[in-house]
This record gives sequence, structure tokens and C-alpha cells, in this order.
Amino acid sequence: MDPKKLHVVIISSPGMGHLVPVLLLANRLATHHHLHVTILAVTTQTSPVESQLFDSYTDSSHINLIKIPLPDISNSLHPNYNIVTQLAIMMRAARNNIRSTLSAMSPVPHVLIVDLFSSESLPIADEFHMQKYVYVPCNTLFTALTIYLQVLDKEVKGQYVDHTEPLRIPGCVPIRCKDVPDPMLDRNTRQYHEYVRMGVDFTTLSDGILINTWEDLDETSLDALRNNAILRSVVKVPVYDIGPLSREVDPPGSEGNKVIEWLDMQPLESVLFVSFGSGGTLSADQITELAWGLELSGERFVWIIRPPTGSVKDGTFFNSGSGPDGCLEFLPEGFLDRTQNQGLIIPLWGPQVTILNHKSVGGFLTHCGLNSIYESIRGGVPMIAWPLYAEQRLNATLLVEKLEVAVRPEVLPAEKDIGREEIEKMVKSLMKGEEGTTMRKKVRSLRESGNQALMVNGSSYRSMLEFTTCCEVKI
Ligand code: UDP
Repeated sequence: MDPKKLHVVIISSPGMGHLVPVLLLANRLATHHHLHVTILAVTTQTSPVESQLFDSYTDSSHINLIKIPLPDISNSLHPNYNIVTQLAIMMRAARNNIRSTLSAMSPVPHVLIVDLFSSESLPIADEFHMQKYVYVPCNTLFTALTIYLQVLDKEVKGQYVDHTEPLRIPGCVPIRCKDVPDPMLDRNTRQYHEYVRMGVDFTTLSDGILINTWEDLDETSLDALRNNAILRSVVKVPVYDIGPLSREVDPPGSEGNKVIEWLDMQPLESVLFVSFGSGGTLSADQITELAWGLELSGERFVWIIRPPTGSVKDGTFFNSGSGPDGCLEFLPEGFLDRTQNQGLIIPLWGPQVTILNHKSVGGFLTHCGLNSIYESIRGGVPMIAWPLYAEQRLNATLLVEKLEVAVRPEVLPAEKDIGREEIEKMVKSLMKGEEGTTMRKKVRSLRESGNQALMVNGSSYRSMLEFTTCCEVKI
């Protein structure tokens, strides 16, 4: 290893939705900016698709990937804890292993980048005299909200969702109370206080914040984070827009032959892809309504399906890709027979990027995880926004109201089930309506703007260069 070359270590927290953007950032730094990159991936080792993704990087010549196993924390983890609380506990417990891994590296790397759930590892960088940054693979308004939560926490009385007035972050669009992210819904919970703490960590423990976004996606929030005097007094550190970092291909070995063969036989842009990310799950009633909605629409579909999980909406977050894949008894009686020429069901997990880039796919019903959104934009595919958990309602609002590349149900999935008639109507409007055609054009121009941002001298390229240069002058 060339000791004069900047060596960056990136920590990722468990979950495909966290590992994927860290791998993308690592790739970008290694291939476009020619840095040494090591990933410390904290893993629960419970997801087969996560393991598959790890394996595909084991032979990578340009990224050093080290798995950080979790110590036994079964005593501190309650099954009813929200994902955010679980992640905070896991990442706290992983700190000793992270520290000992770093101390075994010689020479000591120059820069530590933590993902948003590992901000408590930032002080470890001080122990090794490393520079320290936070990477937020989430939308910019959510980043601003997380940072400003420390102020709202003091100013606003009662629960945010009980307010008729939207939440106001200086310089940003007001956030309607119904869009407040899940972990912030109840101020008496642990996950809420973890978020307040994370926002403080970002601004007091780091040298800067990298966001997986680009100027055209949400210039208002980005401008506020950088230039609004009131917000700056809280943010303090530089903010770098370095996206959209998004997967171009699925990892080698992803089973895709059957679905690709099926898609190859369908007309151009005729298929709706239905998938709820790595963790998203639905209740039995909601699966029934979705199945009927798809069938009644008459449109073609590919549906990545998981068994029902009652009221839990993130049932496979830590064990994505695992579960009983043969049993589809929870689908309405006769559904599979009646739709055998209309749709294809894929149990548990599928090659999402390959599907979204197939010419037959013309729409994506998505839970609005940011990776899924960027993959859809990259594929030029307009969306039905069906947010389930975390900050996904904010993502959905951005897609529908500002970018106009998605339709959204009238009721929020959190309030009650979305009925079959509404699903039928949305699917038809996206796949055949004028609305769908207009959105398809808009999503393609958004893709173009994302591509431009990443090109040499594009806004995100320059921002990344500013970040790497800033790190290099300090070594
Ligand atoms: N994914 C996939 N196949 C599936 C489901 C998900 O490859 O069947 C990938 C998807 O392409 C994305 C990631 O898992 O890269 C999910 O990340 P996202 O941010 O969309 O949602 P999360 O799972 O974090 O809620």
C-alpha cells in the first residue's frame, strides 16, 4: 500500500439498505478518486443476501472488506425494540471490535467515515488521529431534520404528529406532521432520543457530512444546510453532496434467469415491478388487497413477495432473503392460476437492479427506500410510492410533490390498508394513463441530471473532490 495515498475506512451498520450505499461510496472513492478504501462492515450474519454480497467483494482488488462480527448482545436487545434502537445498541456494542481492528492496521488509515448509525464511533478516530466524517445515505431534508431535531426537541411541545402546524427547519420546505419519520413519532421512545443524539453527533463530533444526493434532487434543503445562517449555527461542519450513488448491476450469483426470461417475452414498458426493499413486509389483509388490486388492473407485474407479518412493516430488515420461499398459501384463493399469464411471483428476494433496467419494466411499486428510488431513477422507471417505515414518507413526498415522478395512495399505509380499488386505479394510471407517460419523461430527465452530477466537473464530482482534497491536505 502506498503510504502517501489517502486511506479511508468506512463503517457500515447492519442491513442491506446500509451496506449497499457504503459499498457504492467505497467503489466511487477507489475507482474515481483512486484512494485506498477499507470497509468495516458490522454484521448480524443473519441475512443470506448480505452474505452473498460480502462474498462478491472478497476478491475485490480495489476494496478491502473486513467483517466486524457483533459480540453477544442478546441481553440488551428486546425483540420489540424499533430497528433504530436495535441498530444503535448493535453499533455501540461493535465499538471495541472496530477499535481493535483499526489499531491492528499499519500504517494507521487517514480518514474514518461512519454511516449514520455508527456516529458513536467518531471519537475512535480521535484516538488514532484520523479525520472523521459522517455518511448519510438518506434524503437531504431528512438529514436536515435529524440535525435540527436537537432544536425542535427544545422548542416544540408535545408529540410532533399532534401538531396542526408543520415542522419548520430554517430554509427547508415545511414538513407535514404526517410525514414525520417513524422513529420520531413518539418522543417518549428510545429511538426518538437516539435520533436526537445522532443529530448532535453529526455536528459536534465530525469534520463534515457526506450525503448521497445531488443538487437537482433537493436543492432547497441542500442550500439550507450550506447557507442558511440559522441552520448553519447548528450544522457547523461542511456538507458534501456526492450522489446519486446507485447500483448498476446485481451482485454475481443473483438468481435472475427465470424472471429475465419472462420479462424478455413481455412488451416494452408493460410490466409493473412490485418490491418493498430488503426489510419491507405487509399484513395478510394488505397482501390480499394488493393481490386483488394487481389482478383487477389487468396490467402485467413481477412481485417480490414475502409471507405476512401482522402489523410489523420491517419484518425482514436483519434477515433479508431468508424465510420459507415455497409456501404462497397466504395469497387469495385462485390468484396464482388466474394471473399465470399476467404476472410472475418471486418469493423473498430478486435481482432488483436487473429487473428495473429491463426494457419491459414500465413502473415500480416501491416502499421508497432511497436505494430503490435511485435504482428506479437509473432505470428510467416512474413509481407508485408506498412508504412503510423509517424516513420513507418523506422520500415519497419528495417523489410525488416536488419531482412528480410517482403517484401515491390517498391513505397512508400506516393509517389503514390500501384497498384494491385504489391500487387498481394507481396501477392503471401509472402503466397506461397520461400521468404515467408524463412521469416517465420526468424520471428520465432526472436520471440525466444525476448522471451529469457525477461526471467529471459535475456538481457531485466536484463536491467529492473538495472532500478528498480537504482530507489530503491534512495528511
Ligand atoms: N433488493 C434486492 N432485491 C430484493 C429486495 C431488495 O436487490 O428483492 C435491494 C435493492 O435493490 C436495494 C436494497 O436491497 O439496493 C434495499 O435498499 P432500500 O434503501 O431500497 O431499502 P431498505 O431495504 O433499506 O428499506
